[in-house]
Amino acid sequence: MKCRFCHHELIHVFINLINAPASNSFLTKDQLNEPEVFYPIELYVCDKCFLVQTGEYKKSGEIFNREYAYFSSFSTSWLEHAKKYVDMITGRLELSTASHVMEIASNDGYLLQYFLEKQIPCLGIEPSANTAQAAREKGIETLEEFFSADLAERLVQEEKKLI
Ligand SMILES: [Zn+2]
Repeated sequence: MKCRFCHHELIHVFINLINAPASNSFLTKDQLNEPEVFYPIELYVCDKCFLVQTGEYKKSGEIFNREYAYFSSFSTSWLEHAKKYVDMITGRLELSTASHVMEIASNDGYLLQYFLEKQIPCLGIEPSANTAQAAREKGIETLEEFFSADLAERLVQEEKKLI
């Protein structure tokens, strides 16, 4: 396996969590008597650039699908943290209506909603259809796709750069 950042061969296991089901892959009642799929969870560290990364055992499209179960806004303490963060970072970076905030993996807009309240333009990038829809219902422009180099180049061409 190659490092996702520098393409150096990965040989060092940083931590081995053995096996686990995919996150948020809850079983239905009908599935309770069926075998459950577990995946090895090994984290590697690149000895060239020190990026820690998982081995990919399940394609991301299988995990982040139309029925993704985790909505960030379910946690009131997480929302409180997100609001405090937006207040802090808005002042620190002097963000304004002339700025543009993007969040990769923006889920249901739990964070961007607070930028929107301050009338700071923002864009969410979220591959799960149901959480992306929840964000749109809050008025947050959300692209429903995985962030990639191709998407980054498209956004630059559309002049949606970070200011
Ligand atoms: Zn590397």
